[in-house]
Amino acid sequence: PRLHVAADLAAGVILPLDRAQANYLLNVLRRGPDDPVLVFNGRDGEWRAHLVQTGRKGADLHVAARTRPQSGRADLHYLFAPLKSARLDYLAQKAVEMGAGTIRPVITRFTQGDRVNMDRLRANAVEAAEQCGILAIPDCPEPERLAAALAGLAPERLLVFCDEDAPVRDPVAALRAAGDPLAPPPLAVLVGPEGGFSEEERASIRARPNTVALSLGPRILRADTAGVAVLAVVQAVLGD
Ligand code: SAM
Repeated sequence: PRLHVAADLAAGVILPLDRAQANYLLNVLRRGPDDPVLVFNGRDGEWRAHLVQTGRKGADLHVAARTRPQSGRADLHYLFAPLKSARLDYLAQKAVEMGAGTIRPVITRFTQGDRVNMDRLRANAVEAAEQCGILAIPDCPEPERLAAALAGLAPERLLVFCDEDAPVRDPVAALRAAGDPLAPPPLAVLVGPEGGFSEEERASIRARPNTVALSLGPRILRADTAGVAVLAVVQAVLGD
């Protein structure tokens, strides 16, 4: 298992576990002293640690040796209109698993409610990082209105706009035409809310230079489905 911790990591460091972590490792995963646990904090790389039980329900992790050096955050930005909480959890976790390094909620005209539980979003990003094996914790900046989020993108960043009204054509060819797979541009993807983008929003997105409107097929996908689909296409063509 891999565990995200807040503490600095070095050989010999002892990490006291909270009750939930101790219970998870000892009783759910039934790990013993000889079963190494991987720990990371997003700064010092990944380390192998050993579980040492302390009392009936407690445990510490004794950090032993580094297994992987720290790696940088993926440069892929995932812009999305917030969804209701359970689906937001799903969307945040899939975005991280599929390679997003920055996950930014954008508030659009038809977004359902403009309050996003950012603590929950960030906790989902950490949980997904633990599960999928990345070492850099994705950045989850505060929500912005769509216009500000677009204005905040560097001009050289290719924006992949998921547009169900775009001509249904080969998304791979469309992306290949927009960016060189051998030297992929910095990327951002944008997925709309369940209610879709307004016509004004659609026009402002398309008006941005270095933007490709991508159809993900002839059916209308739910926003979280579209998020996974576009990231899979990006990863297949341009991302790593
Ligand atoms: N306009 C949709 C409708 O008529 O129901 C509502 C939006 S759809 C549920 C949510 C978002 O997913 C869209 O804003 C778009 O970004 C993306 N999306 C859904 N289906 C898509 C498709 N076939 N191609 C590209 N993007 C799609």
